[in-house]
Amino acid sequence: MTMVMNWGNFPKVDAEIIRFRETNELLRHLETDKTVIARGLGRCYGDSSLNRNIVSTLKYNRILHFDHSTGYMSCESGVTLQEILEICISKGWFLPVTPGTKYVTVGGAIASDIHGKNHHKDGSFSNHLISIDMLLADGSILSCSPDENSELFWSTCGGMGLTGIILRAAFSLKRIETAYMTQHVIRAKDLSHLIQLSETYAHCSYSVAWIDCLRRGKNMGRGILITGEHASTEVLNDRFATTAFFDLPQKKRITLPFYFPAGMINSISVRAFNEIYFRRQSIGTAPSLVDYDTFFYPLDAINQWNRIYGRRGFIQYQFVLPITNSGTGLTEIVSEISKAGMGAFLAVLKLFGVQDHFIAFPIEGYTLAVDFPVSKNLFSFLDKLDRLVLKYGGRLYLTKDARMKREVFLHGYEHASDFIAIKNKYDPHGKFQSLQSIRLGI
Ligand SMILES: Cc1cc2nc3c(=O)[nH]c(=O)nc-3n(C[C@H](O)[C@H](O)[C@H](O)COP(=O)(O)OP(=O)(O)OC[C@H]3O[C@@H](n4cnc5c(N)ncnc54)[C@H](O)[C@@H]3O)c2cc1C
Repeated sequence: MTMVMNWGNFPKVDAEIIRFRETNELLRHLETDKTVIARGLGRCYGDSSLNRNIVSTLKYNRILHFDHSTGYMSCESGVTLQEILEICISKGWFLPVTPGTKYVTVGGAIASDIHGKNHHKDGSFSNHLISIDMLLADGSILSCSPDENSELFWSTCGGMGLTGIILRAAFSLKRIETAYMTQHVIRAKDLSHLIQLSETYAHCSYSVAWIDCLRRGKNMGRGILITGEHASTEVLNDRFATTAFFDLPQKKRITLPFYFPAGMINSISVRAFNEIYFRRQSIGTAPSLVDYDTFFYPLDAINQWNRIYGRRGFIQYQFVLPITNSGTGLTEIVSEISKAGMGAFLAVLKLFGVQDHFIAFPIEGYTLAVDFPVSKNLFSFLDKLDRLVLKYGGRLYLTKDARMKREVFLHGYEHASDFIAIKNKYDPHGKFQSLQSIRLGI
């Protein structure tokens, strides 16, 4: 037994880990009556990949095919986005959608149907999938895609590993000319200004905003909008030799060596951090040039940054509100967070485009993700935020969740009961279960 927890370090479970390199081995492991859940790199924050028996896909990680001329890639589900980037960047290809860390597996990216800074333009990861092969509860392997076994396909994208184990996936990469980005940083004085800027810059390929959720009064919700485009060779021509278009500067990753003591992250330290962050952004009308790693994965520069919240861990609370209610809903929710002063670092605000993917999280509107260290009063406070999210027609992101109640899930996800029916059809005896699915009654 090993103690396992995901990125939020909450909750923790003693689990037996099943590892496999070939599907036959995995099939033998699954012959028992035990329930299991698949797990990649554990970058979901809560309990979606936790169970007493965990199937780790990390050794099942071969690239099966990469066509340099078309950007077609197929691989086993334990391949990480970092591994894909290592081979595809130098050939002029990039991930079609990437989250804020490259340390996630392809299986995890599909099961959470992850989104990136380009959701308003390119949708989520599943929009770029060609097909997936699934290992089902009865031991059979079924290929599915938007056209073949589509019911299984759409309930697996965002289905949090509950329909079966994703074995292999084929998807399309995105053409790039260089490994660099042109980045534009714009400061917003308050929340409505930030929303207005997000809309003005919605034509940009990538856009994300950081909000200071602790700011009260007239500057409540002040923030910074960052937009970006993949840099063309013309932009780089003046600065680099043609051969260096895909080279990155050498960087050192630092590691947070220990858990910060409880109480160190409080409203005073967070307010000070947010103030410094807000002021030190160099705001310019001219875009700057940054490498893709700095643009997409700033947090990956610090190994184990999650230890900053201490041993008790933290919850990343992420919700989305429909576009029509986003302005009023966000104002009320951000105001509750700033009033409570519950110690949230800079929160992330993104605009989602139109999407209707059955059980997946995104809907057209704004999504906000805020970190809260686990504390005595946190859970009742988050229940209060849940009520506001539902009042404005929103929902919470399952991959960040560790505490949502069943009613909140059923109310927020309009296809929740259809999803449960499909799960029961493919997995009638409940072979695939996580602490989260038990809590939510899926
Ligand atoms: C710093 C940071 C930034 C992030 N930014 C974003 C972001 O911008 N956008 C976003 O959408 N997400 C974001 N995330 C969340 C992350 O992308 C997802 O939680 C992702 O699913 C994690 O992948 P994983 O390989 O670590 O999977 P795990 O965390 O191990 O598992 C996540 C889910 O996938 C299921 N799963 C994993 N592998 C398989 C498989 N082979 N078959 C079936 N089910 C499987 C698990 O059962 C679980 O339900 C971020 C996370 C971190 C830590």
